[in-house]
Amino acid sequence: VPPEINGDYYNLSRFLSPEEREIQLKVREFMNEHVKPIANDCWNKARFPMELIPKMAELNIAGLTYEGYDSPMGSYLLEGFITMEMARVDTSISTFFGVQSGLAMGSIYFCGSEAQKWKWLPAMQKMEKIGAFGLTEPNVGSAVAGGLETTCKRDGDSWLLNGQKKWIGNATFADLTIIWARDLDDNQVKGFIVEKGTKGFKAEKQEDKMALRTVQNALITLTNCEISEENRLQECNSFKDTSKVLKATRAGVAWQAVGCARGAYECALEYSTQRYQFGKPIASFQLVQDLLVQMLTDLTAIQSMAFHLSKLQDEGTMTDQQASLAKVACTKHTREIVGHAREIFGGNGILLEYNIARFVADAEALYTYEGTKEVNSLIVGRDITGISAFV
Ligand code: FAD
Repeated sequence: VPPEINGDYYNLSRFLSPEEREIQLKVREFMNEHVKPIANDCWNKARFPMELIPKMAELNIAGLTYEGYDSPMGSYLLEGFITMEMARVDTSISTFFGVQSGLAMGSIYFCGSEAQKWKWLPAMQKMEKIGAFGLTEPNVGSAVAGGLETTCKRDGDSWLLNGQKKWIGNATFADLTIIWARDLDDNQVKGFIVEKGTKGFKAEKQEDKMALRTVQNALITLTNCEISEENRLQECNSFKDTSKVLKATRAGVAWQAVGCARGAYECALEYSTQRYQFGKPIASFQLVQDLLVQMLTDLTAIQSMAFHLSKLQDEGTMTDQQASLAKVACTKHTREIVGHAREIFGGNGILLEYNIARFVADAEALYTYEGTKEVNSLIVGRDITGISAFV
């Protein structure tokens, strides 16, 4: 009989309230019942399971932390556990959810007017409307704070948007895409809600990715794309406002990394009890046990870090730099943990059917998106030394 498969070694979910724990378990059930059976196939075919959106909507978990606008409300800690449960089975699904609930809804919540919030947030909460977030460009990734090439120009009651965006998750099918652009008049970053079908907006699927293949990333081209002033995010005046969104979502990526690491660790632990060599389960070998314990040590450390970060968020004291530190640490350790987990599978570790290969590949994207390790490290470096190392 295999041991209980449980990567929450310090029993952190014990600190959720009974109601929150129930929601965590509902998400776990959804992932195991509906996502797990199709996760490898979707990944292999680079297909997003659109058919699951209504079932995911029934969980009533989008935009939990945004007060008002029909949000069911929940703590950042609960949101962290939800994200972890998703990534524990399929990091692509947690990414889809992070773009919808974090990046897209967050842009409207932190930077939109009351009217914009009421128009979009309740429908996005119910997942009747799906969002995307377009910040990165073909020539501008890490340097988005000062270097956006996509421009906007006021033209009477409208704006004209021109440029390209790359890597934009959900954008091939989203009902709305938030586009960040530099104003040609005052040189500041502004945000726009670009609705599906708008003339001058083209989203092409990026093919042949080796990570998060289930996520539909798009290359967006904006050609004299006309957006009404009504669809400009009214409370965004500079990149500082965009950063408010990223602060919260970087904490979410830390939890995604925890989920990815936990899923990989649990798969490896289970496999080690079932795979026999030299007439014994490989879990009985000292070196294999040592590897499992190394993984569990790092997993427990990053879980504890993400847990505490969420407590700071719930208290309202989390800083951008604290979120960056957790994003760096959690994604870095996850990359190592999934590598060790794959080792335990030997050759089977590179076969999709054993699940582990997907975690290894997906950890690469977590390590890079929402600010690379270097960029988030420089944010923390600037904080602790008082010296900016950015060019
Ligand atoms: P670059 O900026 O070109 O960096 C290349 C390397 O140079 C990195 O190692 C980087 O750390 C290093 N580097 C750059 N500047 C410095 C410096 N000053 N000091 C030291 N090192 C430096 N973006 C969106 O807007 N919306 C999305 O939905 C979205 N989804 C994504 C999904 C996936 C799967 C991926 C892979 C990316 C996604 N992104 C998205 C983009 C992501 O945020 C960027 O890839 C990331 O910010 C890095 O930018 P880049 O790829 O252009 O790398």
